Amino acid sequence: MNQKLLEPVTVIKGIGQETAEALKEMKIFTVKDLLEYFPYRYEDYRLRDLADVQHEEKVTVEGKVHSEPSLVYYGRKRSRLTIRLLIGRYLISCVFFNQPYLKKNIAMNETITVTGKWDKHRQTLTATEVHIGSKAHNQDFEPVYSVKGEVTVKGIRRFIKLAFSQFFQEIEESIPEHFIQKYKLLNKQTALRALHFPENETDVKQARRRFVYEEFLLFQLKMQALRKFEREHSSGISQNYKIDQVKAFIKDLPFPLTQAQKRVVNEIMVDLKSPYRMNRLLQGDVGSGKTVVAAIALFASVSAGYQGALMVPTEILAEQHAESLHSMLQVHGIRCTLLTSSVKGKRRKEILQLLADGEIDVLIGTHALIQDEVHFRNLGLVITDEQHRFGVEQRRVLREKGESPDVLFMTATPIPRTLAITVFGEMDVSIIDEMPAGRKSIETYWAKHDMLDRILGFIEKELTKGRQAYVICPLIEESEKLDVQNAIDVHSMLTHYFHGRYAVGLMHGRLPSEEKDQVMKEFSLNEVQLLVSTTVVEVGVNVPNATMMVIYDAERFGLSQLHQLRGRVGRGEHQSYCILLADPKSEVGKERMKIMTETNDGFELSEKDLELRGPGDFFGKKQSGLPEFKLADMVHDYRALETAREDAAQLIHSSVFWDSPEYEQLRIHLQLTGVLEGEKLD
Ligand code: ADP
Ligand code: MG
Repeated sequence: MNQKLLEPVTVIKGIGQETAEALKEMKIFTVKDLLEYFPYRYEDYRLRDLADVQHEEKVTVEGKVHSEPSLVYYGRKRSRLTIRLLIGRYLISCVFFNQPYLKKNIAMNETITVTGKWDKHRQTLTATEVHIGSKAHNQDFEPVYSVKGEVTVKGIRRFIKLAFSQFFQEIEESIPEHFIQKYKLLNKQTALRALHFPENETDVKQARRRFVYEEFLLFQLKMQALRKFEREHSSGISQNYKIDQVKAFIKDLPFPLTQAQKRVVNEIMVDLKSPYRMNRLLQGDVGSGKTVVAAIALFASVSAGYQGALMVPTEILAEQHAESLHSMLQVHGIRCTLLTSSVKGKRRKEILQLLADGEIDVLIGTHALIQDEVHFRNLGLVITDEQHRFGVEQRRVLREKGESPDVLFMTATPIPRTLAITVFGEMDVSIIDEMPAGRKSIETYWAKHDMLDRILGFIEKELTKGRQAYVICPLIEESEKLDVQNAIDVHSMLTHYFHGRYAVGLMHGRLPSEEKDQVMKEFSLNEVQLLVSTTVVEVGVNVPNATMMVIYDAERFGLSQLHQLRGRVGRGEHQSYCILLADPKSEVGKERMKIMTETNDGFELSEKDLELRGPGDFFGKKQSGLPEFKLADMVHDYRALETAREDAAQLIHSSVFWDSPEYEQLRIHLQLTGVLEGEKLD
């Protein structure tokens, strides 16, 4: 990096202390900051044929003055100046508000250039800018910058021009030459010039393409360098599992693994064996078979002489997992135990003792499991399931638990690849993108709220067949209290409707957790046939006899969340149904409901959701953790993101990257962002 560019903006002739202060407000400190302060759009001054211009669109035209300007005053300060302007074969009106002085500048038959808003119906242009003569601007495109405080757009244009004339020669290429060649990118000088002083649209496009790639490449280099250093410096454990036993275990499973499961198991096995600490995210759609993958990993860890832990968000889930893991692992002599907050007194003490003595191999439970009083003898592997709302901080706490155990995060909320490689850039990502054979897809319908009568009939039909159903209540994001009230109302309506025939349970977030578990238990034992619930059932519950789900106000949910909810049915041998009650007003809303009825593929849905709602909404406003890019857009430029990611990976893992002069600029960049000092993650 050229040191001169890292000097404060005051080294630019024409920029003084005062301007520098004002620029600081816009986070512009150095010459480089100023040179790389990108416009967010361009004013288009190309002359256009009025026939192609939309009503109210902004346009620049050039024409001949065809009438004496007529000036009308109304009030002391307000005036309107009107002229007739001949543009080719069009004769239009041109209006200037509050610029009476123009009258004497504009003469009959003179050529003028006018920019303004076009009123198609009245054939009138309301002018915002006028230039006497033709070709008003040297540039067809003028950059528009976002500004703050004292700084104006004209001002910043001027400062950038000053910076350019003085420092243009100092601008150095940051992207390695072979990538520039390979992707036919503009070099940095040309691209910067094109962004700030473009001659046409193509200039801007090409320049933008270059900087999008640069931003992604630098970002990915940083993430991957961090990951590399974490690996090299973290003292994880190398688990020498018994490969023959693991193979035998897999062979004993009641079904063959899918190709995707095999691939993911292999990725995890490599991590377990390696001396670095596993930090892996496992994504797999609902029902794709993550639990068995977890079982294999736990088995391997135990065979290497370590203990394992599986952590889930609710007690009911913990019980279900304990049961299924127990049935898979017990026959192989592995001791599984459940620990939740309901395990108390003597039993709890006993479990804690056994755990500390290494007499328990696998502990399954809720958050209770990583509390201070819980001591493992030698914890080797921690797995969390359905923790798809965990934040960066929680991930860190978990990683720091115990003597650097390997950590696997499982989630059923498919995260679009673009987000996965940015937000979870510091983790390795495994994906199960294949369903076990023979899985029935859920039939999904979209109905309006006024069709409730028919839907009640539909529910009843399923109940008559001996099946069960969920009814998910309206969601009012601002108020949990109202959500609860809604659930209570729907519950009482349905209790009334099915009175004497079927039992209706109620579940919501404000119930004490014992009650929640009680209700879920009744539902899973089919003592309750119909469960009215808020979205708390979203996570991992497994009641295979439930074949029907009705979701109120479906348009308020994200597609991924709807998919997650819908995944509660379709878990048994019977055909399942999901009915989305929604009266969306917007086209996007309708589109979203339609997509839900058309696909059962969680990844496809999550990509669509991201496209329709944007990355901010995807994770919810609170903890997006999304990186910010100046020009690049993670969603629309995702191809470039992928490319940059692969390029960055190759660089980071090649030895030339660390010493060849060709990559010096990139290494300096890493240094500037603190990576090379070995700065900690998170
Ligand atoms: P999820 O990914 O949602 O946690 P589960 O692990 O609960 O999915 O698996 C869903 C069901 O699919 C379970 O009943 C499990 O036994 C079954 N299953 C998992 N893998 C396979 C497979 N390869 N072939 C057939 N069934 C499988
Ligand atoms: Mg699961």
